[in-house]
Amino acid sequence: MPYQAAGFGRTLGDDMHLHNTIVVGGLALGVMCANQASAQGTVERVNPLLQPSPLPYGVPRFDQLRNDDFRAALDQGMREELAEVDRIADDTAPPTFANTMEALEQSGAVLRRTLRVYTVLLSAHSDEVLQKIDAEYSPKLAAHRDAITLKPRLFARVKSLYDRRGSLRLDTEQLQLLEERYRNDVRAGAALSPPEQDAVRANNVARANAVAELRRRILAEVNAAAVVVDDRALLDGLPESDIAGAAAAASARGLAGKWVLPLQNTTQQPALAYLRNRAMRERLFKASVSRNTSGANDTTTLVLEMARLRAERAKLLGFSDHAAYTLDDTMAKSAENALGLLRRMVPATVTRTKEEASRLQVRLRMDVPGATLEPWDWQYYAEQVRRADYALDESEVRQYFELDRVLRDGVFYAATQLYGITFRERHDIPVYHPDVRVFEVFNADSSPLGLLYLDYFARPSKRGGAWMNQLAMQSGLLSTLPVVTNTANFPKPSPNDPALLTSDQVRTMFHEFGHALHGLFSNVRYPSLSGTSVPRDFVEMPSQFNEHWADEPSVFARYARHHRTGEPMPGALKERLDRAALFNGGYALAEMLAACFLDMDWHMLPAAQLPAQVDSFENSSLKTHGLEIREVPPRYRTRYFQHIWTLAYSAGYYSYLWSEVLDSDAYAWFKENGGMTRQNGQRLRDMVLSRGGTKEAAALYREFRGRDATPDALLEERGLK
Ligand SMILES: [Zn+2]
Repeated sequence: MPYQAAGFGRTLGDDMHLHNTIVVGGLALGVMCANQASAQGTVERVNPLLQPSPLPYGVPRFDQLRNDDFRAALDQGMREELAEVDRIADDTAPPTFANTMEALEQSGAVLRRTLRVYTVLLSAHSDEVLQKIDAEYSPKLAAHRDAITLKPRLFARVKSLYDRRGSLRLDTEQLQLLEERYRNDVRAGAALSPPEQDAVRANNVARANAVAELRRRILAEVNAAAVVVDDRALLDGLPESDIAGAAAAASARGLAGKWVLPLQNTTQQPALAYLRNRAMRERLFKASVSRNTSGANDTTTLVLEMARLRAERAKLLGFSDHAAYTLDDTMAKSAENALGLLRRMVPATVTRTKEEASRLQVRLRMDVPGATLEPWDWQYYAEQVRRADYALDESEVRQYFELDRVLRDGVFYAATQLYGITFRERHDIPVYHPDVRVFEVFNADSSPLGLLYLDYFARPSKRGGAWMNQLAMQSGLLSTLPVVTNTANFPKPSPNDPALLTSDQVRTMFHEFGHALHGLFSNVRYPSLSGTSVPRDFVEMPSQFNEHWADEPSVFARYARHHRTGEPMPGALKERLDRAALFNGGYALAEMLAACFLDMDWHMLPAAQLPAQVDSFENSSLKTHGLEIREVPPRYRTRYFQHIWTLAYSAGYYSYLWSEVLDSDAYAWFKENGGMTRQNGQRLRDMVLSRGGTKEAAALYREFRGRDATPDALLEERGLK
C-alpha cells in the first residue's frame, strides 16, 4: 500500500506508533497494601499507583486515579529504583546472572507501572496537569536513566558477566538479555574513562540544545513561510472548505479579508493538487522548498553543527561515523546493508517515475502548450489524471466501512482465521474515557492471552495520529500478561449514524492491530525483551504485515458491506479503489528514496570530512544515487528534515522502507504457501510474533522465510514490477 495519505501510524513518519522503550525494572519493596490501610481505619486516600492493582491483569485503577497522583509516584518510583539498583551494584556476592541481570529486570516496579499509565494518558487523554508534569519530569527521568546506566559499579558487574558469557550456561534468551544490556550501556558511554564520559555528557548537552533550537526554528519557519494570498481568484480549484480554512487562518493572523496557505512538513503541499493557477502553484512550492535557508530561521549552521556533534560522539564511542553507530543497533546492522536495499529499488522507481512524468507532461500541454513539467505541476496533474481515470468518490466508499463491522468482521475475524484467537468485550474494567472499549483475548484453547483497550475516536485531549501502547508487558519472570492499547483519531459518529471509515482508516485499524498482536503474542521471560522491544527497522513489520489482510478477498467480503443494506461492495467500485491505490507510485517511492539517501549521506562521514555547504552536498547526494530528477524533489530537504535532526530517525529514515520490504516479503511467503490458514498463522506467531527481542531480528526473519528478504514483493505491491 502506498505511503501517500496523510496521518496515521503506518504513514511516512509524520506519526508512528509509540514504542514502549522505557525499561525500568523493579521489586516492589515496602509498599503498603490497600487492605492494611483500611484495617488501620485510616481515611487518608491511597495513591493507586503506589501498589499493584488487584484488578484482572493488574490493570490500572482508572476509576480511582487522579492526574496529580503522578508526581508522588514518579518521585517514589525513581527513589526506590535507585535504592534497588544500588543494592544490586553494592552486593558483596560475586555477580551472577540472577543477582545482577534478573534483579535488574525486577527492579523499579513502581516507576515502571507509573510510566506505563502516564505515557498512555499523556498521549491519549492529556490535560494541563499532565503537560506540566511532562515538562518538569522529562529532564529528571533522563538524568535518572543516566544515573543508572553510567553507574561504574553496576556496569562492572554487567561487564564481568558479559566477559564470561561463554561459560555461564545461559540459554538463548538470557544471553540476548545480557548482550543487549551490555551493548546499550556501552553505547551510552559506560565503558569510557571518566574524562571521556564527561565529553559524552557535554556532547549530549550540546546536541540537546541544538535539537531544541532546530525544532523551534523549523516550526517558526513553517508559520513564517505560510503563503499569504490577496486575491481569492488565485485559489481557484481549491475545495470550498479549504478556502474557508485559508480565510480563517488569515483572520487568526490579523489578516482578515486575505487567505493564508499554511505549510505542511513535506516538500510537496496538499493544496498543489488543486490550485489551477500555475503561478500560484509555483509560489507555494517555492515557499515550501526554500524553507529555513535565510533570515532568523536559517537552519544551515545548526544542521552542520548537528552532523558534526554526531560524528564526534560516534568517534568518542569507537565508531567511524554516526551511521555506523546508529545502525550497529538495528536489523540492517550497517549503512552498506541499508543502502544496498535502497539501491535495488532505484532502477524500477526511476523508470516508473519517468513514465508518470510523460503522462503528466502530455496533460500539462493540453492546458499550456509547449510548457515543461515542473515540480509544482506534478500533484495538480496527477490529481487530474486520478479523477478522470479512476472516478473515485471517497464518500461513496465509506458507506461500506462501518467501524464496528470492520473491527469484528475484518480485524478480529482475520486474527481468528490466522491465529485461532477470540475476543470478548468486558464492561467491568475501568477506563480513562467513556469512549474506550476493553476486549479480553483468548487463545484457541480458551486460555487467556491478554487485554486490548480500543480508543478510536478523536477528541481534543488526544494527540494526532494512531498508535499502539502497552499498560502491561508480558513477562514470564514477572508473571504478567500483556495489556495493549490501540488509539486512533477516527471521527466520532453522530447520534443517528454509525461511525464510517475511509479506506485509509480501515488500513490504519489493521495496522495498529498488527502492533497489538506483537504485544499480545509475546511469550518471553524478561520484560526488557518483550513484545515490541525490537529494533526500529523491524518494529513496523508486524503492523504493516497485518494491513495485507484488509485486502484478503474472504475478509474484505465480510466487513465491506453497506451499513444500511448489508450489501457487499460492488466489484467495480472495489476495482477502482485498488487501481487508484497504485497510481503515482513511482513519484511516492522516488521522493522517499531521495530522502533516505540524503539522511544516510549526512551521517556517513567522520567530522573532518563533513561539508561546509548544504546545497551542493544535497545535489551531489541525489546525483550519486541516480535520483536527480528535476520534477521530483526529496520528500524533505536537509534544512527542514525534522525526522533526522529532531526526531529519532537519523541514519534511520530507511526504516520505513526496510520494514515494508520485510512485510511484503513475508506476505509473499503466505501466498506461496497456501495463504490465510491457521497453520501459516501459527508459524508466524511461533517464529516471529511471540519472540519479542529474544533473538536478533534478522535471524528470526531468516528462520521464518528460509532466506533473507528481497525487495521484489514490495516493488510488485507498489505496481513497479
Ligand atoms: Zn506502526
